[in-house]
Amino acid sequence: METIILKGKPVSLKIKDDLSLKISDLKKNNIIPSLAAIIVGDDAASKLYVSSKAKAFSKLGCHSEVFELPSDTSEHSLKEFIEDLNNNDKFHGILLQLPLPKHLNEKDILKNISPSKDVDGLHPENQGYIMQGDPRFIPCTPLGCLKILDYYNIETKGKDIVVIGRSNLVGKPIASLMSQNFSFGNGTVTLCHTKTKNLHFYTKNADIIIAAVGVPNLIKSDMVKEGSHIIDVGINRINDPTTQKGYKVVGDVDYESMLGKVASVTPVPGGVGIMTVTMLLSNTVDAAYNQSL
Ligand code: NAD
Repeated sequence: METIILKGKPVSLKIKDDLSLKISDLKKNNIIPSLAAIIVGDDAASKLYVSSKAKAFSKLGCHSEVFELPSDTSEHSLKEFIEDLNNNDKFHGILLQLPLPKHLNEKDILKNISPSKDVDGLHPENQGYIMQGDPRFIPCTPLGCLKILDYYNIETKGKDIVVIGRSNLVGKPIASLMSQNFSFGNGTVTLCHTKTKNLHFYTKNADIIIAAVGVPNLIKSDMVKEGSHIIDVGINRINDPTTQKGYKVVGDVDYESMLGKVASVTPVPGGVGIMTVTMLLSNTVDAAYNQSL
């Protein structure tokens, strides 16, 4: 079987084309979609993610500012910082880069972002809207996965879908969305996690697998059904002395072993990751539009 490689780039380019029109419309009304990104501490990976997000914003004529706070920032001062951004009309979206240093309670702090500026879709109000089938902001990575499925015409209706991983950021929202009565949903969804007995049993019977686990190459070809579709969300660094950096990035899926067996698979890198940034742009443009009404 020929396996289709579900590259993120063409999907992202199409979405950016559509966004350009919306951005020009907003500009006619002197509105430039703007994102405030907060990083607490010195995590190199977080800084890299945020700078790639900032680049994507400026390429499309949007604005973003990165606020770097020291790693010993207190919960109180971080909440005050967020409150100032909530009240600052210049910014339509606020992104709090995770993970936060250990002394900060992520769930508690995320509640302080104004739900109308919560472009990462992690505020409980926005997660509640997803559960109720009336999403306001869908977290960027699940939204990116759905856009990939849509672009490549992968039918979800009536399909057996296995989501692996139950984070608020990826697993739970995508499992909820794909089980609901949406054009990209109507699947029969099983949510697997660390306490799932015999993961193999579920993956082997799935028409579509969404892997959001954080374990390099966990899903092997003997765990999947021939002709299934695989969306690999994982981004894992593994040692590789043959590369200049000494490491390489792999997904949660043993990509090479899937080729020839499954109908389609996303590559890592080059699949879902690129979509996450694009959907952040999209959510920020939507936020700017909604706030202009
Ligand atoms: P997380 O650590 O919050 O959640 C991981 C989930 O996987 C947990 O719910 C856990 O129950 C489950 N899990 C762990 N080991 C398992 C196992 N052996 N079997 C079954 N389930 C298992 O992670 P997350 O934030 O959801 O991210 C998951 C992965 O996706 C990570 O590699 C992360 O880097 C990546 N990620 C990628 C993007 C992107 O843009 N592509 C965005 C967010 C996260």
